[in-house]
This record gives sequence, structure tokens and C-alpha cells, in this order.
Amino acid sequence: MATTMDAQMPQHDDLSLMGLQELDSHLSIFEPSHGRDSSTPGAMSNSAYGDSVSTVGTPSATNVLESSRKQWAKSNVPNNLFFDGKDMHSSSISRSVNPAELHIKSTLGGKVHLRPESARQSMASSMITDLDDASSSLSSISSKATSPTGFDNTSKGSRNSASMSSKRQQFDVRPKVSIPMDLAPVEYARQCIAAAESSRLNPYSLHAGEYALLRRHLTRQQVTTYLNIRNGILRLWTRNPLIGVMRDEAVGCAKDPRWFDVASICHEWLVRGGYINYGCLELRDLTAENKKQRGAKRMQKTVVIIGAGIAGLGCARQVEGLVAEFAGRFRAIGEDPPQVVVLEGRDRIGGRVYSRALNTRPSYPTLCYGSRHTAEMGGMIITGFDRGNPLNIVVRGQLALPYHALRSETTIYDATGKPVDNHRDLCAEQLFNYILDRVSEYKFKLSTPATAEGDKDLVDAGRESAVEGSRMLIEEEQSRQSTPNGTNPNVLQQDNAVQMVPVSSNRLTGRAHLEPGIHAVHTAAYKAREIGWLLRAGVGIENDLDLENAVRSKYATLGSVFDEAIRQYTRIVDFTPLDLRLINWHVANLEYSNAISYNKLSLGGWDLDAGNEWEGKHTMITGGYQQVPRGLLNCPRPLNVRRRSKVAKIVYDPNKAHVPSRIECEDGTVVEADYIISSIPLGVLKQDNIEFQPPLPGWKKGVIQRIGYGVLNKVVLVYNEPFWDETRDIFGTLRNPPDRFSLDQAHYFSQRGRFFQWFNCSKTTGLPTLLVLMAGDAAFQTENTSDEAIVAEATAVLKTVFGPLVPLPIESVVTRWGQDEFSKGSYSYTGPNFQPDDYEVMARPIGNLFFAGEHTCGTHPATVHGAYISGLRAASEVLETMLGPIKVPEPLVLLKDSLSKRKSEALQSPQNPKQARLEAYEIDVWNTIWLKLGDRPWKPENRYANPYRMYSKDMWEEAKRRCEEGRRPGKGKPIPNEVKKMVTKMWKDATEEEKKPYNERAEAQKVSHIAAVAEYNVDAAKWDREAAEIRTQYVAEHPFVSDPEGENLTRKQRKAKRVSGYAEDSASNMEV
Ligand SMILES: Cc1cc2nc3c(=O)[nH]c(=O)nc-3n(C[C@H](O)[C@H](O)[C@H](O)COP(=O)(O)OP(=O)(O)OC[C@H]3O[C@@H](n4cnc5c(N)ncnc54)[C@H](O)[C@@H]3O)c2cc1C
Repeated sequence: MATTMDAQMPQHDDLSLMGLQELDSHLSIFEPSHGRDSSTPGAMSNSAYGDSVSTVGTPSATNVLESSRKQWAKSNVPNNLFFDGKDMHSSSISRSVNPAELHIKSTLGGKVHLRPESARQSMASSMITDLDDASSSLSSISSKATSPTGFDNTSKGSRNSASMSSKRQQFDVRPKVSIPMDLAPVEYARQCIAAAESSRLNPYSLHAGEYALLRRHLTRQQVTTYLNIRNGILRLWTRNPLIGVMRDEAVGCAKDPRWFDVASICHEWLVRGGYINYGCLELRDLTAENKKQRGAKRMQKTVVIIGAGIAGLGCARQVEGLVAEFAGRFRAIGEDPPQVVVLEGRDRIGGRVYSRALNTRPSYPTLCYGSRHTAEMGGMIITGFDRGNPLNIVVRGQLALPYHALRSETTIYDATGKPVDNHRDLCAEQLFNYILDRVSEYKFKLSTPATAEGDKDLVDAGRESAVEGSRMLIEEEQSRQSTPNGTNPNVLQQDNAVQMVPVSSNRLTGRAHLEPGIHAVHTAAYKAREIGWLLRAGVGIENDLDLENAVRSKYATLGSVFDEAIRQYTRIVDFTPLDLRLINWHVANLEYSNAISYNKLSLGGWDLDAGNEWEGKHTMITGGYQQVPRGLLNCPRPLNVRRRSKVAKIVYDPNKAHVPSRIECEDGTVVEADYIISSIPLGVLKQDNIEFQPPLPGWKKGVIQRIGYGVLNKVVLVYNEPFWDETRDIFGTLRNPPDRFSLDQAHYFSQRGRFFQWFNCSKTTGLPTLLVLMAGDAAFQTENTSDEAIVAEATAVLKTVFGPLVPLPIESVVTRWGQDEFSKGSYSYTGPNFQPDDYEVMARPIGNLFFAGEHTCGTHPATVHGAYISGLRAASEVLETMLGPIKVPEPLVLLKDSLSKRKSEALQSPQNPKQARLEAYEIDVWNTIWLKLGDRPWKPENRYANPYRMYSKDMWEEAKRRCEEGRRPGKGKPIPNEVKKMVTKMWKDATEEEKKPYNERAEAQKVSHIAAVAEYNVDAAKWDREAAEIRTQYVAEHPFVSDPEGENLTRKQRKAKRVSGYAEDSASNMEV
């Protein structure tokens, strides 16, 4: 199926505010190089990795990807790591499997000390598909100069207690040490912005949590500086998540020592919130430290996590990470850092991520050594790594798992077995999307949390505001509150505000793809005609749907209103049974993503998570998704997971009154707990079989009822030989309703999700394998149908498509998630009585009882990544309960006077004199190089426009005029995004002759840019060569003096150097 240009465009949160200029830069993604220069070493490694992902599909490209991963995995991770955890003696592998540790050891000779920028750089290329690494070859030289001090694990003074003590912290760090010197400021800013976007944070504004923390301490003008520091810290993390970002390293992102406390607080907020330093990361080994604590026996609390699915394991890993990170604070309150215990009812880990071993083996090796041949019973697809998916860090950055990028091209086969004509399929899909768009007008209007924005232009340029302002954010907020805010989250949305509107559906996940716009601006008839449908005789473009009655019904659901829209459409266009089969295929796809028939979905909240989709290819892990929970279980050290511990009773303390809490298992085992985190699936909670003492309050029970929990099932079929089109990863099959000629939408309900979507899983299982989905009503039917009947029906469907010779499978697996005692269904959905904040209410703790799991993540429910995010959130909540909130020193941004005092204190007692000498020496080397050579040449900016961009500028007004045709009353003027889509359509429809002048202009600009880059490459290489020579000469003439006598001789001199390193003098203040 052809994909529209619109569908290919990445989603930008700020598109609603996009002016023409931003629009242009947004559209620059159509440029062939996407602003990357493959001639730079960083970009080269990118294309060797990222591009191979995007071109996956050709066998060779896949091989490149997999072999590079394989190599890493082979050399660093023993293959038995990812075998079934229950058969494995995890302790025996624990020391050898830790990638982070190996990395640190190999780069630092076993001593965790300096963290060269180059170490971070090494991972950046493997993880970030859309980010290039434009660091020059000089990075390795500059790395030392940019290496921060004070991140040694043992450097207690600089760790842990920034906000604990009333006395201000001293930082043995220089400003800017974590900012590479050899990057153009704009390029550095771009990397920081991309890092924030890869971390689910808006680079240009505060997260609600940051706002709450900082509103009393920062002015609006200071927000920009804060954001630059925060984005810089995120950049350090995303560049190499094998190494945690230490606090001193984060502090080095500040350009001015007055902002050190801010950077430190920001670091703590990012760590606690699970934005940095999460996943399979090496931790401080607390055992030795605990032993050192002599004297009276110290208290050690226990955090018990119920459930070893992604949420539970991710949470356990995070709690362990956080208590290690803040170990000093526990000791300061007389406790040892808490221990973590995970109780799991099954005899395996992973929960709904379950890669079941197949019995069939290929006759020759098809997967990389050590990979298993498995059927994905539950979670299977990673829905894009880019723009914030934390699994990017875990899967690609830390565990280095091989994966296959799915090709979204689909053939849909009709019930007769014939492929459906592409145009017809597209018409049906677009009509389906238009109806969804109409129904979306009745979605809940959600209130936006308070935040503060930085200055976008300054953030883009990596600069700070010249003025700092004097009114704190809270003061501004208070003055704004004099005008009442009437936002009611329960109000159904009826106005003209820019919303995220569905423009296409994802065939791999069933989720609608949204873009900023205004809901359904055109009449139903106009839209149908625009899509390509023939209007019935006598129907004019003013003909429209009237859904008000259907919406007002007490029992209105997404399905009831959608069905009504279809009924009314039959008066506008002539549907055939094929059209309805096609439209219902898309309905089935939507039901798949919700694990329920759309007749049970909330009208106001059915796509609550809309707009939070990741970007990038959808992928499947080769050898099984369960390697991810296994990685979380075992890397870097095995978690304390007790399998076959089915929890029957939870005694908790709802008032945090320190009443002893405990968990009782079905086998009689009792586990004492100070904090309990339940990741028990919603389906199990709904059964009400687990006793809570005291009983859960009414508000919690209410939400457990209101959020729905549906069923999706799968059938996995293994064959000797593939008989399907191996160049495709998915195909669809249309099903007839019981009366195959019916034009009644209601008749399509029972059959549309039966064997409707097929995945070719041969690449990830290593065997010729098909996996077919049973969605909507069909998922429930599967629960009560025998395997034989299901396999026979699947074979019959395949025979209609591929001919009578289709054999029976040699192995098959049918899931029945509804009957699974530890899940009781597949995943959550928004039920008919759903209220907008139900997921937050579901997540809300009760005393010392906390909640995690996909059903507690309103931004990404029903997914593996949502489950993981919920685990990070719950860990953060438990830490806050244990240690209290982050303490912010006042004033947070130091005044100039206090700075001088702090500086002189720091100078009097440098924490690491040798380190300080090394850095002073390094600065001397750099000063000498700069004095002789000046700045390294900047890489020319990629200024050439693409032809489409130039066309869009010229045709903007015409597109706007066309958008105004066929508009529904009250829909106002077209917004830029509508116009943009119209321009895109016009460009697609334009003839080669019309495109020619734009292509020629673009080509000329491209040629001149290439020439400029070539010139830059020569100049930069010359500069690097000469810089290296000057360095060698300098080192020969002024060898580094490391002995204390040397220090005595030059103390005065060195003191001067330290001052120059700290001060905002012209020499140290590199223009950024
Ligand atoms: C068929 C299917 C397909 C899916 N496809 C995708 C997909 O393609 N992409 C995607 O992102 N997501 C997908 N999902 C959703 C995803 O798998 C889940 O959202 C996610 O795995 C849930 O993780 P969790 O940790 O919240 O819950 P679970 O993984 O269910 O973990 C909960 C754990 O608690 C344990 N437990 C339950 N009761 C007790 C008890 N009484 N005592 C002790 N332990 C107990 C369970 O055994 C389980 O291990 C799919 C799910 C299914 C079922």
C-alpha cells in the first residue's frame, strides 16, 4: 500500500505553533541527507547503524545490522544470559555479563575515574537513528579537557547530599567541562535538544514535575538557562547509557558556577524521575560499603515488588539503582540502603512478554549463536525507538539485542483470496480515518499541566538570556490566577482548538497516527469526494453527518457512534460489501490495539494516549522479546526474584503509620515489607481474589472497575517451507460477515477480527513462521475454541489466498490470555464509563502500597514501554517516600557575591589536587593551541533547501484557498498544518514539468553546499594535524609535573590557573 508523505512525517509536539519558517525546517526531513554529513566520522558510524535499520528489508542491510549487534553481544554478553531464566544459575554469570562494567573496565583499566566524552560518543551512533554525531576527530583530544572531575564513585563529598545539608555543596568541577569544545555551539544545542526529545521531555519547556520543583526558585528568564543545562545532561546520558551520568559530570554542563546548584538539582530530578541512569546500568557495589559500617546494627528496609513482568522488573532494577545512588543519604539517617525482593507467581519471568520456546529446529543455523527459536505469545512489537522510548536505552544502548525492523507495506487479500486494489483500500482507509476524526470531536478535553517555556531561539542557539529577571515563576502564576481558569477536564470537547487529529492508521499496531489539526473541517460529502468516492446521485458536497443524537445516548461508545456514521454514509456514497469488509478490517485493527470490540470503548477517552507515539521503525527482537525482561533480571547483577510465589494477601499501611506490612503467598510464605509495589495485572485485580488488608478504598475499587481489560489472542504456525511473500512482514485478510452480501454494519462485528492480520515472523523466530491475530470478538471466541478447529480455520484462510497446496503447520501455538491465571486478559482499555484521570488514579499510592503496570500508565497504556515507564515512576515514588522530596537550596541561583566566597573556599581545599593539576595542565595545552591556530573551522551549515520546501513557500496561499472549500460551518480559518497537508498533496499531484524549476534550484544549492563541506574537511583536517603537532611539542617542552614537590614549586602559578578556570573571565568563557 502506498504510504502518503504525510504518514511519513515525524510528529512534532509543537507543530500547532509552527510558523512558516519552522514548517520549512520541519519539512527538511525530506532532504536526502536529512542534514547529515556522511563524511564526518560520527555520521559514518551512524549510517552504518541507523541507516541500516531504516533500509532494513534488503537482506544485506539486515545482515549488517544484525552482525554489528551480534559482534557486540558476542564479545560482551555470554550467550546463556538470554536463555530461560529459570534454568539458569544467574549468580554464576552475574560478574561476566555486565556490559557497563566491561566498558568501564576496558576504557579505564578497571578504575572508574575519568569519563571521557569519547566514551559517551561511542554509544551515540548505535542508539540514535535520527541524531548524527558531528563530533570531529579532535574529540579525543578535547575529551580530557572536557572530562569532569569528582565523579569517582568513591568521591563522597560530591555525591548524594546536595540538597540534604543546609550548608551549600562545594563542587570540584569547572564550568563547561561537560560541554565539548570542538563542537559548534549550534550543533551542541541541536544534540541537546535531540537528547531531550529522546527522553520524553520537551526541550523548550519544563516538565510539570520540574515546574513544581522550581517555580519558587527560578524566574521565567532563567528557565532558558535551566533548560540548556538539563538538555546538556540528557545529552551526556543518551550518548552512552552504559555509563550513568554522575552528578559532577552533570554540574559540568553549567557554563557558570552560579548555576552549579541548579545543575545538581536538575541531575537529581532526572535521576529520581528515571530520565537518566536507568536500565541495566552498573551500580555501586554496596556490599563492601555496608560491611564497613561498624557499630550498632543498622536498620535495613525492604521493598517488595509483586510481579516480575516488565513493570516489576524495571521497577526493581530502578529501586536498586536509586538506593545505590542515594546510599549516603540512607546512611545519614542511620539506615543501610533498602533491599529489594520481587515475588512472582509463575515459574518464569516476563509476565505478558513471553517468548515460548518452539520444538521445531531449523536444519541449519538461522539465528545468531545462542538465540532461541520462540513464539511471541504476548508483547511483540517495539513501536519505534525514537523520540523518547526508554526501551531504546535498554534494548539498543545497554543490552545490544538484535532486532528486525518491520516493513509496513501490506497486501490485503479479500475473502476470495484476491489482493484488494490499492486505490480501493486507500479510499476505505481514508474514509475510516475521516469518521474517526468526526468521532474524535467528542473526546475528553484534557487540562494541560502548568509549565514554563524557555526562549526557543536561545535554546536552539545554545545561548542564555542576557537578563535574569526578578519575579519567580510562582509570582507570575499567582498574578495569572486572578483570571479564573475554567478548564474542566470532563467537558466534552466541542471547540475549534488545535487538536491531534487522526490522519492514518498504523497497520502494525492498529493505532491511529495523529497530527495537529482541527477535527473534521470538511463536510462528509466533500471529504468522500476528495478521497475519491463517487457521491450518490443528487448528493451535494454540503451533505453532512449528524451524530449528535448518537453521542447523546446514555450508552454511547466509540463503536455505537462510528456505526451510526457508517449508516449515515450509506446515504452519501454507494458502499459495496467489499467496501464494508475493508472498513471493518480497519475497525478490527483498532480493536486489536485496544484488545476489545470498539462497542465497549469510551467515546471520550478511547485514544487517551494519542500523540505520545514514538517514531522510527517498528521492530521485533530476534530470538524473542523475553530477552528484555531477562536482561533486566540479570544485568548487571541478578535481582532477588522469588518465582512460584503467588501472592494471596497484602497487609499494608494506608496511613504511613509504620504499621508492619507483609505479603502472604498461597504456599504460606510470609514476606515482611516496608514498602509494597504491586504490578499485578488489572485483569487479576478485577477478579478480587487477592485479599487486601485493609480493603482497598472505594476510589481505587471504582477505577479498577472502570478501566477495561480486554483480550487479544494469537495463533503461531510453523512450517517446513514458506509459501507466502517473503518480502513482506505483514498481510491482511478480509472476512465475510455471516451474510456475505450484507450492507449492515452490525453484521460485520463477529467476524472482522478473525484471522485478520498476519505477521511473517521468520526473521525473528529463525523458522518459517506465521503469526495471526484474533482481535475484537474473535479474541474472546478463541478462548473457547479448540486448537484443532483454530488451526484448521487458519489453514482454510491461507488456502484461499495461497492455493490448495498450503499444508498444515508442523507446529502451532494458540494463546488464551483470558484464561491465564496471572493475567486474566491481555491489556487495559478505556471502558465506557472511563473518566479522564482514571489511569492516574489507578497509579496513585495508598500509604506504603504503590502501583505499577501498564494499567497505571495513562500516557502509554497497554504496552511494554508503558509498563516499563510505570515501573520507573513507582520506583521514584517509593524513593520520595523514603527520603523525602528533593531539597532545593535557597537561593538556588547564586548571587555574584556568594559565588566569590564559594570560589575561594573551593580553592583553599581542592578535593583532588592531582586532578586539578591535570586539568590546569590540559587548559594550558589548549590555550597554546588556540593562541597559535585560533578556533577550529566550523562546519558549514546545511543551508540548501529541498525542492518541496521551495514549492511549499510559493504555493502556500493557493493551498490555503483550497483548504477553505467544503468547510463545515464553525470550523474557522485553515490552520498551518492543514495548509501544509494540502501543499504536500499538491506536490504529490504536481507534474514533472511543474516540479522541474524547484528540482533545479535545489540541485544548484546542493552542489555549492557539497563544495563548502569539502573545503571545510580540508581545513579541519589541517587544523587537527597542526593542533596535534603543537600538543606534542608543548608536552615535550613542558612535561606534566605530578609529584607534590612540583606542586610546591608552582603553587602560586597553579592557583592562578584554577582561578582562571572558574572565573567568568574572557579566557575561560568560550563563546557558546
Ligand atoms: C497478546 C498480547 C500482545 C501484545 N502485544 C504488544 C505489543 O506488540 N507491543 C507492546 O508494547 N505491548 C504489547 N502487549 C502488551 C504488553 O505485553 C503488556 O502491556 C506488558 O507486558 C505488561 O507488563 P506488566 O509488567 O504491566 O504486566 P505483566 O507482564 O502481566 O506482569 C505482571 C506479573 O505479575 C505476576 N502476577 C500476577 N498475579 C500475581 C500474584 N497473585 N502473585 C504474584 N505474581 C503475580 C504475573 O505472573 C506477571 O509476571 C501485548 C500483550 C498481549 C497479551
